[in-house]
Amino acid sequence: MPAPKRLLLLIPTSTYRTEDFVEAARGLDVDLVVASERPSTLSERFPDHLLALPFADPPAAARQVLDYARWRPLDAVVPVDDITTVVGATIAEALGLRANPVSAAAATRNKLVMRERLAAAGVPGASFTSFALGEDPTVGARSVTYPCVLKPLGLSASRGVIRADDPAGFVSAFRRIVALLAEPDVRALDPGDRILVEGFIPGQEVALEGLLQRGELSTLALFDKPDPLDGPFFEETIYVTPSRLPADVQAAIVTVTARAADALGLAEGPVHAELRVNEAGPFVLELAARSIGGLCSRTLSFGTGMSLEEIILRHALDLPIASLEREARAAGVMMIPIPGKGGLEEVQGLDAARAVPLIEEVTISAHKGEELSPLPEGHRYLGFIFSRAATPAAAEAALRDAHARLAFAIR
Ligand code: ADP
Repeated sequence: MPAPKRLLLLIPTSTYRTEDFVEAARGLDVDLVVASERPSTLSERFPDHLLALPFADPPAAARQVLDYARWRPLDAVVPVDDITTVVGATIAEALGLRANPVSAAAATRNKLVMRERLAAAGVPGASFTSFALGEDPTVGARSVTYPCVLKPLGLSASRGVIRADDPAGFVSAFRRIVALLAEPDVRALDPGDRILVEGFIPGQEVALEGLLQRGELSTLALFDKPDPLDGPFFEETIYVTPSRLPADVQAAIVTVTARAADALGLAEGPVHAELRVNEAGPFVLELAARSIGGLCSRTLSFGTGMSLEEIILRHALDLPIASLEREARAAGVMMIPIPGKGGLEEVQGLDAARAVPLIEEVTISAHKGEELSPLPEGHRYLGFIFSRAATPAAAEAALRDAHARLAFAIR
């Protein structure tokens, strides 16, 4: 019997997805090696299976993995979440594994570079300009058109993304982002030298979950975001799949997403795209070289019950994937909005919310006493509500019903 393939999973400590990826790996016949940016208390006992890698220094991480792979060869490396995509591509390149080019992964991690690449390739997106952090915002405020959206270059989950409708709004949004980027934990995440300003694109927002295989994009799911996202902050709430948009609009979304992936040079693995659609067609807001965040992937099930995580691992390991067809039922997830700033004291109504028909799960991911912080500064999720139903409308209604039964006591 051939030895099982060996898989290196890059799991940042901030991720919500450790369990889902490890579970998927356990279902496969693989030798799983998990790397995190901090040594675990168990690393010393399992030096072959638990690694600490400097994710923020990709070349150093790649050197360390090369040393490791000399005596324990690796067949695949899978980055989990945005912050490991570049180090993942760097390691894969060093090992000679099939993966995205490092420059493509890097382009998805800098919103300005991404905009420039998409615009150069003629992919429909927002008009944009950028300003150095140290610039006087009152000058910039006079040069842009309104409404516009200001955003940092390297954050995610809508953190620091602010709409401005006039020069006064621009100046205050600019200062707010500068202050956010000065926070020590944020500074490590963001290239931190500029603020991107985009024209506001009106319209309905969708998210496309896809898989690239040798440059070919397969759509795994298209989500509608039925709540209006008009700002000034853009809190993610409900995602429902399948999309209720007309078939030709959905086809246009897929085409534009494939063009965006191509323009960035992405070729392998999961992609998560956010787009807006209006009378002029779909516009790319962003394309990430990762799968959907938080616990949202739990809405997805393929073929006879394969998880998104298993598909990602199988693709990386070059193992057969029975089907990329999502199940027939509709599914939805609500990222529970953060109701205010302060310490989470208590969550009421959980049993009632879980008892709502069509609700599969209500998970509170914030722990008791955790400091909750709403957007634009906050970034952790309060929790997730999951539903499954015959139609997208029923899946959405169940989420709203369950959410209405929850109450959060915040100190
Ligand atoms: P992040 O990577 O932090 O999610 P995005 O650039 O995707 O940042 O922006 C987050 C959200 O802000 C989007 O999902 C969208 O709702 C809103 N948004 C961002 N840019 C624009 C824009 N140019 N026009 C309209 N809405 C926007």
